[in-house]
Amino acid sequence: MSDKMTNSFGRPVVDDQHTATAGVDGPALIEDTHLIDKLAHFDRERIPERVVHAKGAGAYGYFEVTADVSLYTKASFLSEVGKRTDIFARFSTVGGEKGSADSDRDPRGFALKFYTEDGNYEMVGNNTPVFFIRDPLKFPDFIHTQKRNPATNLKDPDMFWDFLSLTPESLHQVTILFSDRGTPKSYRYMNGYSSHTYLWYTDTNRYWVKLHFKTDQGNESLTGPEAAELAASDPDSATRDLYAAIASDNDPSWTVNVQIMNEADAANYRYDPFDVTKVWPHSDYPLIPFGKMVLNRNPENYFADVEQAAFSPGSFVPGVAASPDKMLQGRLFSYPDTHRHRLGTNYSLIPVNQPKGTVPRTYERDGSMRVDGNFGGNPNYYPNTFDGPIPDESGAEPGLAVTGMTGRYEYPHPNDDYEQPRALFADVMDDTDRDHLIANVSGHLGGAQKRLQLRQCALFHRVHPEFGIRVAEAIGVDADEVARLAALTQEELVAATS
Ligand code: NDP
Repeated sequence: MSDKMTNSFGRPVVDDQHTATAGVDGPALIEDTHLIDKLAHFDRERIPERVVHAKGAGAYGYFEVTADVSLYTKASFLSEVGKRTDIFARFSTVGGEKGSADSDRDPRGFALKFYTEDGNYEMVGNNTPVFFIRDPLKFPDFIHTQKRNPATNLKDPDMFWDFLSLTPESLHQVTILFSDRGTPKSYRYMNGYSSHTYLWYTDTNRYWVKLHFKTDQGNESLTGPEAAELAASDPDSATRDLYAAIASDNDPSWTVNVQIMNEADAANYRYDPFDVTKVWPHSDYPLIPFGKMVLNRNPENYFADVEQAAFSPGSFVPGVAASPDKMLQGRLFSYPDTHRHRLGTNYSLIPVNQPKGTVPRTYERDGSMRVDGNFGGNPNYYPNTFDGPIPDESGAEPGLAVTGMTGRYEYPHPNDDYEQPRALFADVMDDTDRDHLIANVSGHLGGAQKRLQLRQCALFHRVHPEFGIRVAEAIGVDADEVARLAALTQEELVAATS
């Protein structure tokens, strides 16, 4: 037999079908507090949508160490082969609203929470190894161009391509995004990347690292037309696929690899190792497999676990720390700040966000929705002589040597924004990949103003003449003019197309 219904304070609910009225035909009564509570709670069911990564799906699982990396990091959860740590993963699109289609062309978020014995370690990655921009000052502008035009409230190819063509560092990510990898078959069939460089350290050694999560399901993508068809027929395709696979014990897994750079090599490497628009070619830094990630448990309640999940790239454990990657540095602030806005200052108390391998002992108190015991009568200040928690030196992070003046700088290494997308276009892609890339770009760029088409085709031409000319021909732009513009400096190109 079903349990008896109560209101949220436990009082019996006598009737949940008939509003109390003044007589049979009379108006509703304000004393029907059950009606008012029910409507008022319903009115507040929606919390603010994530400003990015609004549409997503998630699942629980585990991470298992498969090879010894204790030489490189003292992270406890990576300390021995066979060790397992519970995780929660959330995958998402980036620019679309909560009701948008899972198969839309967009990078995919690849956010992970490891519930370790030293607290939560979190990685907020993507299914692409690079990003559109390398400075966080550009981030709100970049996202605005992916959202809606302020006047028309429509997605706007002019905004999209104007910004990107004024920002050549975006070319690597744009080339990946408009390949079929920009429309993965579902979340199970894509790789994840830390994208940012991080520091791994022991008590004596320090290394720069990048993480690669290679899908064990095989990397499978949709063509542009397949993605468009799926967006219309099943906008929730990737959410459905992840849930159904786990529900039928077809648990998806990823092989986790690390690229490791000696700390001292960073200064002389041919690319800036902290520039998130660059990869480290595998021939320079091979992938070293060291772990396996398995997702094997669906959330019981989507809102509780997935909608309220909050990830922070600054949630480190001893053995892992930030690098000077400027985009990462910006995200270290921005992610917790958006959680404080979206979920409230006590978002770490929400079960999916709580550490599970350790117990928080802080001097933070109060705040909206403080739903635990608020540390009872324990001292709420430090230092104190009432047995309050004391700092733990085992968490000390290694410092970073810095020199020079504060200021607003370009990355110090030479910044060739064309070389790596050229390697992708010319050496990694096959003919079919290139055909699809040209078709996918043309379908989108074809909607922008002619001058923006010229500017963007000139950038593609700098990546590879074939790239620029084929897109130009596909959208009816003068290929000779594109070749001429490509040879100009970026300043001259902008002046000629403004
Ligand atoms: P490799 O030939 O050693 O590796 C090529 C990489 O490209 C593989 O990781 C492959 O992933 C990936 N790839 C294949 N098709 C696409 C696509 N359409 N979009 C994005 N990635 C794709 O190359 P290098 O390491 O020398 O790098 C060459 C270029 O490959 C880079 O400039 C970069 O554009 C791309 N790349 C490099 C990565 C790296 O970390 N070095 C990571 C991802 C891409 P898979 O193995 O899953 O097929």
